[in-house]
Amino acid sequence: MGKETGISWTDSTWNPIRGCSRVSEGCRNCYAESVAHRFSGPGLPYEGLVQLDAEGKSKGLWNGQIKFVEDHLLDPLKWKAPRRIFVNSMSDLFHENVTDEMCDRIFAVMALCPQHTFQVLTKRPERMKNYWLKDPNDRRARQLRWIHGTLSVDAYYRKLDARWQAGEAPEFDLGIIAQNVHLGVSVEDQKTADERIPLLLETPAAVRFISAEPLLGAIDLTRLQLGDVNPYAGHACELDALSMRINGERALGWAIVGGESGPGARPMHPDWARSLRDQCKAAGIPFFFKQWGGWMPWQPDGGFSEWKSQTGKLMDRHAFPDFKDGGVCQWTDASLYEGEDICVHQRVGTKAAGCLLDGVEHHEFPAVRS
Ligand code: SF4
Repeated sequence: MGKETGISWTDSTWNPIRGCSRVSEGCRNCYAESVAHRFSGPGLPYEGLVQLDAEGKSKGLWNGQIKFVEDHLLDPLKWKAPRRIFVNSMSDLFHENVTDEMCDRIFAVMALCPQHTFQVLTKRPERMKNYWLKDPNDRRARQLRWIHGTLSVDAYYRKLDARWQAGEAPEFDLGIIAQNVHLGVSVEDQKTADERIPLLLETPAAVRFISAEPLLGAIDLTRLQLGDVNPYAGHACELDALSMRINGERALGWAIVGGESGPGARPMHPDWARSLRDQCKAAGIPFFFKQWGGWMPWQPDGGFSEWKSQTGKLMDRHAFPDFKDGGVCQWTDASLYEGEDICVHQRVGTKAAGCLLDGVEHHEFPAVRS
């Protein structure tokens, strides 16, 4: 099947929930929020989900309300060919206003579609962990009630349901995380990695992954500082997420990295992306470099007279003042970027900046389990 989304690490998006609220710096230029801003008028899909000014016009900010989109809940059951599906690109499935019952139904649909791989990404891993660690028998009973009450209206779903009741479709993993569900956390810097990844690692999942997009700072996955979630209170505690194993499998199974795009995008230093690439390669973890984002980095090529971009272009250093729109960002933090590590960013747009990291495309995926 052809791709139905511009997000390169998935094939389709599925949005049974709309609406959200900001959590951290990674949300500052939220793409979903900008879409909601444009389509929040009367009768439009995001009506009631954004803050309004005195004249009733959208301020371009989520208001924390969410909508459960029943009309799209069963979409994956209608898609026959296997595909990767990003769940809730326009929301966060574990937002505080998404109820457990809504989550039950969404995960029941995933369990009923073993042909697909579902990618769930959150900035609220505590809620995700608590949802999955609550009594699985309760969850299964709620899901069964809903399946019996809803899906039997159609012959196809009746057939699925009958197979499941006869025990002929054990792949329908209700009550537990199904093998086709990959759970991930978004992180943007070391602080959010420290806070969110340990919670992800405590959550049962067939594959656990991180999306470091927009990447706003360096991250060391081998030295996560446990802080408040430290089970050994009073002792400094670090966690190496890359070497950790759970039931013999790697605890972390995939890493996506990307720079920010769109108006207001912030540049990503190439060393931040290189470091995550190198950490993942050393640990044998699939690495996906999605994009540079709106800003393309240039670094000295050998000496300081000539500079090279990530698209392979060479430029005389005297040409830099010619960059239009004042879009040059010079890194001056000497503690991070000493000597030749200096980097200049040019605003060229996401498409032109591309997705080559030091001349190489990194588009690796975790293996699909059956
Ligand atoms: S959690 Fe995701 S959808 Fe929600 S505001 Fe942040 S970036 Fe946007």
